[in-house]
Amino acid sequence: PFRRSARIDAVELSEILKISELADALKREGRDVITLGTGEPDFSTPPHVIHAAHQAALAGETTYTLTAGTLELRRAIAAACQRENGYTPETAEIIVCTGAKQVLYNAFAATLDPGDEVLIVAPYWTSYPDIVTVCDGKPVVMPTSAETGFRITPEQLRDAIGPNTRWLLLNSPSNPSGAVYSAADLEALAEVLRDAPHVGIMVDEIYQHISYVPFRSFRAIASDLADRTLIVNGVSKSYAMTGWRIGWGIGPKRLTAAMLAVQSQITSGASSVAQAAAVAALDGDQQLLAERSDDFRERRDMLAAALNATGVLDCPSADGAFYLFPGCARAFGKVTAGGRRIESDADFCTALLEEEGVALVPGRAFGTPGYVRLSYAYSRASLTEAATRIARFCANLK
Ligand code: PLP
Repeated sequence: PFRRSARIDAVELSEILKISELADALKREGRDVITLGTGEPDFSTPPHVIHAAHQAALAGETTYTLTAGTLELRRAIAAACQRENGYTPETAEIIVCTGAKQVLYNAFAATLDPGDEVLIVAPYWTSYPDIVTVCDGKPVVMPTSAETGFRITPEQLRDAIGPNTRWLLLNSPSNPSGAVYSAADLEALAEVLRDAPHVGIMVDEIYQHISYVPFRSFRAIASDLADRTLIVNGVSKSYAMTGWRIGWGIGPKRLTAAMLAVQSQITSGASSVAQAAAVAALDGDQQLLAERSDDFRERRDMLAAALNATGVLDCPSADGAFYLFPGCARAFGKVTAGGRRIESDADFCTALLEEEGVALVPGRAFGTPGYVRLSYAYSRASLTEAATRIARFCANLK
């Protein structure tokens, strides 16, 4: 009775999981493995946020909340939008979910029918195509490369839009490339989208506060498209709250109402104490956002310089998030110190892990072979040691 459904069978075991399984196996053998594979900040949740959750629990905020999220949290989200992005959504335009991931799931489950297409920019966050597939949609990948700064061009978007396109999914700042779309970039894409009224625009802005260039929200740039735009955001990355599982979507009421119908049959809403914590994060001291972003930037610079110095990895800088996405094609055709021949990004990652104990993720996991992803949300000591090992690995390639 428990054969996998066709829908779930189509979702592959993530490449990130495969690398972490190999890394874990090596650790169990007693090897000293440094993992630069994970996508979460190494900072702690701010103490005042934890305190607010504690107080909320003691005050009895331990029951179901409104399915769309508490009014306090939705007001705090609207205030943050006004303060940071220059627009104020109505409460009914906001739905609080169990992490940004569930915003995506709710939206696709609520709107896709079999055959409906979702345009996804590669390199993409690995979950995007999988969530679309689970929701019966068809991911349509638009490739990019370092030459265009891993951003799609308006022409590329125009060519990709077809009669079955239901959504364009953008992510800025991007995981894994770190690309950030400027105001001009977003305006140019909006211009194309104005000619395609059947296309919804989902913009994942979860890394908004980890941007080293001015961040602009698509919703503020193209307010005339607000009736078909869904903004995805949350506290996971900005406030180091990945485990609290609070994200939100901001979109037109007919969409948030449909998403609410999905959510009401999956979770009944996000955790009450986590929502209280998120209110404290959004209403509290915002200085830490800039401090943490500056800290990430320093680590980015240190690691990018070290990778470029290998002469093998070709590492463009990244404007946001906490990832670097260097090309590894110069290693192709070469043989490692341990005698492994490298023909692909996956070979590079496996050999680096087995020979030097450094776990990275191959670019093909993000739909872009020939690159590798490193997260620099790790201590400077770990990054320095990883850079030393990567340099040794590269220097030994013959
Ligand atoms: N969007 C992107 C681009 C991400 O990288 C991630 C987490 O890795 C998420 C969304 C998920 O965020 P959350 O933890 O709030 O579900």
